[in-house]
Amino acid sequence: MTAKRTADQVLCELWEGNRRYQRDEPIGPRRDGTRRASVADGQTPLAAVVTCSDSRVPPELIFDQGLGDLFVVRVAGNVIGGDALGSLEYAAEHLEVPVIVVLGHSRCGAVGAAVGGESGSPHLEGILAALRPAVEATAALRGDRVANAAREHVRRLVSELPTRSSVLGRRGDTGRLAIVGAYYDVSTGAVERLES
Ligand SMILES: [Zn+2]
Repeated sequence: MTAKRTADQVLCELWEGNRRYQRDEPIGPRRDGTRRASVADGQTPLAAVVTCSDSRVPPELIFDQGLGDLFVVRVAGNVIGGDALGSLEYAAEHLEVPVIVVLGHSRCGAVGAAVGGESGSPHLEGILAALRPAVEATAALRGDRVANAAREHVRRLVSELPTRSSVLGRRGDTGRLAIVGAYYDVSTGAVERLES
């Protein structure tokens, strides 16, 4: 078990871990049997991370963290529907994480499909529909349309979550929760903070 950290301290730890990962110098912390035993009776994760299911975007590797460190919600396109939102509320209210990181990424297949105007199977269609507002809002921008839409989708989530969830909103208002946006480059391994 670790002492409770502030959102700023947690973000420093995550970004330090990401720098180790980028440099190919990860320490792979807290992954042994001792750690497994110490967290078996309960979890006190540092942060919640909501990101894409993409196999190239595993948060524990990207941030060089270990067992019990990150409460992770992964859905294609990092869309946040009811179940994902409930998971984040659990992390905030019951596990008292001080920070939620909404992590988009480059070359996202789901965002690419939405940018390409594709329609999906019945359940995939819901994911594409959730991505379309960000695609439409960035359609006129220059540059990489998938990257622009992925960043916009993250910014929108960061601003919407406190109103979509009264639990998250209340904790934010009372200084107990920060929600931050970030963007992961699958080529360089770098995580960039996105300001709202
Ligand atoms: Zn993706």
